[in-house]
Amino acid sequence: MSKMFSDCPICKAHQRMEVTTKTEKIPYFGEIMESTLLCHECGYKHADTICIEKKDPVKYTLLIGKDNLNARIVKSQSSTLTIPELGLKVEPGPQSQGYVSNVEGVLDRFEKAVKTALSWTEDQQSQQNAVKIIGFIDEVKNGDKKVTLILEDPFGHSIIIDENAQKTELTKEEIKGLKTGFLTFENDELEMNNKDK
Ligand SMILES: [Zn+2]
Repeated sequence: MSKMFSDCPICKAHQRMEVTTKTEKIPYFGEIMESTLLCHECGYKHADTICIEKKDPVKYTLLIGKDNLNARIVKSQSSTLTIPELGLKVEPGPQSQGYVSNVEGVLDRFEKAVKTALSWTEDQQSQQNAVKIIGFIDEVKNGDKKVTLILEDPFGHSIIIDENAQKTELTKEEIKGLKTGFLTFENDELEMNNKDK
């Protein structure tokens, strides 16, 4: 693990941004670098994981429930995480973060996001939906229900490590439908990469 200080891109404070990086070997995947940014001046915080090796676009699908809450997940900032049964989706963007966790951790993050949304909305319909989704998530954790977790990454920097996780290559159409969280010209680069193969 290494630490250094740099200037904050948000508040511009000089040498107040603490940058922590850590590399870790993930079985069947390769070496990843986890980085955390924390500005001691304005409190800006960001985390991401980067896979050091070059990878192909990938899609993982896993039926999740009580029995695989511990399955490990590497989610990069460029990936899209979906639970279609619950209508939940996290897309890449300035707010999205990369992290290493497990199925339970992902459910906790979804639950927290829904609770935050619930505290902000005054719309009754939205409130009812949020309460329903939170109940659903609890049922998945308790073993009463199973749902599908889909992790799609056009850069292949994400993985679900579980023997039942289905790994498929993303089709060109699927890649086009995904947000990358980067500027759109990245899509052209992606297409070029695909042509190379
Ligand atoms: Zn700052």
